Amino acid sequence: MASAITGLDEGILQLDTGYHRTGLAACYVMIEDGRAAIFDTGVEHSVARILCALEDEGLTSDDVEYVVPTHVHLDHAGGAGRLMQECRQASMVIHPRGARHMIDPAKLIAGAEAVYGREGLRNSVGEIVPVDEKRVIAAEDGYRFHLGGRELTVLDTPGHARHHFCIWDERTRGFFSGDTFGVVYPELSCNGAGFIFPPTTPVQFEPEAWHQSIDRLMAWRPECMYLTHFGRLDEPARYADDLHRRIDDLARVAATCERGGSALVLSVNAYLDTELDRAGCALNEAQRNDILELDVDLIVQGLEVWLSRRSA
Ligand SMILES: [Zn+2]
Repeated sequence: MASAITGLDEGILQLDTGYHRTGLAACYVMIEDGRAAIFDTGVEHSVARILCALEDEGLTSDDVEYVVPTHVHLDHAGGAGRLMQECRQASMVIHPRGARHMIDPAKLIAGAEAVYGREGLRNSVGEIVPVDEKRVIAAEDGYRFHLGGRELTVLDTPGHARHHFCIWDERTRGFFSGDTFGVVYPELSCNGAGFIFPPTTPVQFEPEAWHQSIDRLMAWRPECMYLTHFGRLDEPARYADDLHRRIDDLARVAATCERGGSALVLSVNAYLDTELDRAGCALNEAQRNDILELDVDLIVQGLEVWLSRRSA
């Protein structure tokens, strides 16, 4: 297995959270002047990995100043409460729409049980622990905070979820983009380029808002995106058009398949297959399926929710 920790430039570590499989979900540790900020946290069992990575850098949990989930979906924030228990000096910076779910996760747990089942939730995410309200900073659009002398800026970025923000790191001209700048799995790269797609996860897929959020990010002329799924993506300008187009394509695929269900699963798979073929992907169906299975399931569920909201 490849190392779970990758050292990037300028005091940023990329960690594999171990969620579901290797290479599915990353989180990032930023270290500046002996202080640390954690961007996305993975799930409960990811916390030990984060603490190990800090220890390797000669830091302890008390050196963590900020825990910053990009949004409250559980692959990004499921372990955030547990991490806050360990890092007693840390504040949590979170979208205003996500804050109450971190303080009282009952709704989050109920929603996740509906998707994963109770047993499945315990196995894949673990326990979801509430965060003390006094330690939570609800960060509005434009909110700035500092790790040592390093400035970080929050941008509200709905479209994937209304409780999603991205964080701009001026030093590396990069965004911790969560799911807003899509998913790019290294295994699906072909001809030196990644294959990008939008995770239209339940329950707040909003194509128009998502387009605007991507445009907002690109207006900052970023040099990289720190994707949760998966890893740092250089030259994001090369990917923005495909991401925009595939948001519309998936919405169109859903709209022509009004009843959803297994027909929509087939249509989404066929669409992604065609796009992968066009990009020159040499993987066979079984290999693609291994990588994309979980995403296709969530993409379809999210499109179904979007369809039912449109027709309501
Ligand atoms: Zn998400």
